Parts: sequence; C-alpha cells; structure tokens
Amino acid sequence: MFTVMVTPECASVAKVGGLGDVVQGLAQELAIRGNNVEVILPKYDCMRYDRIWDLTKTYTDLWVPFYDQWIHCDVYFGFVDNIKCFFIEPHSEHNFFNRGKYYGDVDDVARFAFFSRAALEFMLKSGKQPDVIHCHDWQTALIPVLLYEVYHHLGMGNTRACFTLHNMGHQGITGKEVLMQSGLDVTKLMTAEKMLDPHHHDAVNLMKGGIIFSNFVTTVSPTYAFEIQHTEQGQGLQGVLQANSSKLGGVLNGINYDIWNPEVDPLIPHHYNKDALPNKVKNKQALRQRLMLRDDFKPLIAVVSRLDKQKGMDLILHAIYYALSQQAQFVLLGAAAEDSINAKFWEVKHELNDNPDCHLEIGYDEELAHLIYAGADMILIPSIYEPCGLTQMIGLKYGTVPIVRHTGGLADTVFDANYSDKPYEERNGYVFTDVHPLALESAMNRAIGLWYKYPRYFRQLRANGMRQDHSWNHSGQDYVNIYEHIRS
Ligand code: ADP
Repeated sequence: MFTVMVTPECASVAKVGGLGDVVQGLAQELAIRGNNVEVILPKYDCMRYDRIWDLTKTYTDLWVPFYDQWIHCDVYFGFVDNIKCFFIEPHSEHNFFNRGKYYGDVDDVARFAFFSRAALEFMLKSGKQPDVIHCHDWQTALIPVLLYEVYHHLGMGNTRACFTLHNMGHQGITGKEVLMQSGLDVTKLMTAEKMLDPHHHDAVNLMKGGIIFSNFVTTVSPTYAFEIQHTEQGQGLQGVLQANSSKLGGVLNGINYDIWNPEVDPLIPHHYNKDALPNKVKNKQALRQRLMLRDDFKPLIAVVSRLDKQKGMDLILHAIYYALSQQAQFVLLGAAAEDSINAKFWEVKHELNDNPDCHLEIGYDEELAHLIYAGADMILIPSIYEPCGLTQMIGLKYGTVPIVRHTGGLADTVFDANYSDKPYEERNGYVFTDVHPLALESAMNRAIGLWYKYPRYFRQLRANGMRQDHSWNHSGQDYVNIYEHIRS
C-alpha cells in the first residue's frame, strides 16, 4: 500500500500540537507494517532543520497554477525520524512559508490552499500514484476536492482520499476566492450539498468540502466521533457529519513509544519504568532544580498545553491557586497564540514569580515538556473539548496521573480512581464533568489527598496507567483496514 500524507505538521520537524505527533506516529507505524509511506509538508523557514537528515533538493521544475499565476517551486527531500518527507518551497512575492511561524497570518487560507494544490501537482508531475492520500484538518481539506474535481481527470483516477478531523474548532471558513485561486469551479461548488458553509452566508467551508469529497473521514477518538455528530462539538457541521456517517469513524490516536517512553527517553536524566519508580523521584528533583522550585514533601501538578480557550483557560488559572492552597506545587508549560491569553498568563507569572512552589514557563519547549512529564506527579487537562488529547496518554506512560475533564478522547482513556465502573487495575486517574471550579477542585482534592494519605494506592494508580498500551499498534491496523476498504 502506497500512502502519501499531506499535512501542515509532522513531529519532530514541524509541530504545533498533537496533529504533528499523530502524523509522525502513524507514518512510522504504517512503514513498520511494510507500507510505503511518504509525507509532504510546506518548507517552513521556522522548522527544526536539525531534525532532517540528508535534506537535498530533489525536484526543481514544479510550476503550480494559483489564480492567474504559475508559481515556481523547488521540492526538497529528507528523512525525519526515518520517515520519507518532501518539503515544498514556493518562490513568489507571497513568501507563503517564510513567516517565522506556522499559523496565524491573515492569508493562512491562501497559504494552505496553495500548499494543497502544490502537493497534488507535485505528485502528478513526479509520477506518484498513491493508493491513498491521507490529509489532515482544514489546511489540507482542499486535497480531496481537487483530487476529484481536477486530478482524477489528469491521470490520478485510482487514488483515494482519507481525511482526518483533528479539531472541529478550526474549519477554514472563508470567502469563495479560495476556490478561484485553487482553480476550482465556484458555481458548481458553492452549493448547500457541496462547500457552502451552513451558517455563514456566501462563505466556503473547507472542512465541509474535505468531508464530502473524501472516501473516508476519521476523527481522533470514538467519543469525539459521537460528539461532533450529536452535540455542539460539531461546531455547525453536525448535519453534514450525520449525512456522511457511513464513511465516518473514530480511531483513537496512539502515541509513539520510541519517543514517549521513560525507559529510553534521551531528554530525561533518569530512566525508569513501573518497577523502578524511585528514579521518577530523581526526575522530580531535576525538574525542581531546573525551575528553581523548593525541594519539599509535596505533590507536583503540571500542565503542558497550548494556551487556548479549548483547553479550559479559566480552569487552569483556577487550578494554579487551588493547588498552591492545597500544599501542592504547580508547573505550567504553555504557548498562547492569542495576545489576551498570553498577557493573562504573563500577569500571573509575574504575580507568582517569587513563589517557590510554582513556575509558569510561557512558550514552546519540547525538551522541557519531556522533563515535566517525567518529574510531575499529576498532569491536569481540564479541556472544554478535546478531540483526543495526547498529554494524558503521555502522562500515563510516565506514571504521571491525569486529572481530566470528561470529554472526547479524555473520556476514552482516563478512568476515575473512585467512580469508574472499570476494575481497579484499569482505573488510572481522576475525572470531573462540569466546567466549574468546584468540579475541578473536587477532582484535584481527591488526587492530592491520595498522594498525601495513601501513597501505596497512589503508586498503584500510577502503575495501572503505566501498564496500559496506547501505542500505535491497534490504531495503525485500524488505518490499514480503512485504506484497504477505500482502495477496494
Ligand atoms: P493539541 O493537539 O490540541 O495541542 P494534544 O494533547 O493532542 O493537544 O497534543 C499536544 C502535544 O503538544 C503534546 O505532544 C504536548 O507535549 C505538546 N505541547 C503542547 N504545548 C507544548 C509546549 N508549550 N511546549 C512543548 N510541547 C507542547
């Protein structure tokens, strides 16, 4: 099976959040299973070039039609964590991927529409005939549309499209110019059955187009697959998803245990597993030293997250003060794209600057994230919605007990120590439901209480989580089955 992933992110070279981890983990798993997998990315100026092995210019004559221009591109090839990756570099006055950041410019829609068209043009011109193109989120949602409307007629008629919805909160709702720019037929596509947004007059919805034109649509957990069809989590596309439910499935993301594994993680000072937990305590000491926290008999609660409304900003802010009031330490690592959220966290950081039990690190730091997972006792994820969530699964592997809100993939992976109907050996964390400070406090209180009063049970809870398997093993097979299904 030949699969090409077209994606805006792939760890460890270009990652903003979980999407990057998922593409990397799934691509590696598919390759291990004997499939031919390639990844196509934009050649961003801000990528981790130190993570690419043997980067070479491989194709110099790619001309991509975009509105009334032909834009010349070079294509580079290199290996990222053994994955075959192509990077598209356009040369035009738009300077699409030289912005010092991945997202967040006014022309994001045009940037990724161009990338989608360029990726298909590259496959066509270089003679690639993938069985499946697997694309991810609104940024590449035009791929299935372009494939069926344009490239099937140019010689890619056997290629099928799989589209994964990582987050319904971002759909690419925009003006119809994007269709003209991409060389698509506006009149044909601006209809309720195709790409017209259900709620914004005269707007195109790229994600809706991706759903309708794909052979199969996946989302990243079974609970989120239900929520997006039947609750407001569908963010306006519930009807479209219900109408396409026969080709929609929830496949729980895995995590990559070559990278997220305390037994081998090169980014933590002391390796450990569930039978050698004292070394976890040494990582806690190392974390405290690095962040200048006091070494005291206290549990350490962490947040590693994009700082975005979706992640429960008010609850996180509340948790900082509540943890400190309950004799716990608190560490936060987070980056905000929104200025007001960034400013709020800087304000709290300044306020708590001299507190020896609290550290807020505002920014993105892959290395520090690993040390936090290894050193913390609990990881807090109070998300308003969470399509899958990786940080709770990483926490489980590192013996860091998750405290989560019951939503999306968090509901599929974290089972409450006191209230779950699972047998005790399968319970692995603390869960609350209401988006309310008191619900959060109750879960935190139970976790902190167990740590202080019943350390033996707390150790057992850690071990329960560490035993669980959230590797790509199962989900990798699910994706192979989906690809086989749509190919036939
Ligand atoms: P999302 O995709 O919504 O951001 P996930 O839980 O699916 O959330 O994935 C988050 C990924 O990004 C994890 O690998 C986490 O460790 C990482 N991450 C999030 N914020 C940061 C940060 N500030 N620094 C380093 N890594 C981060």
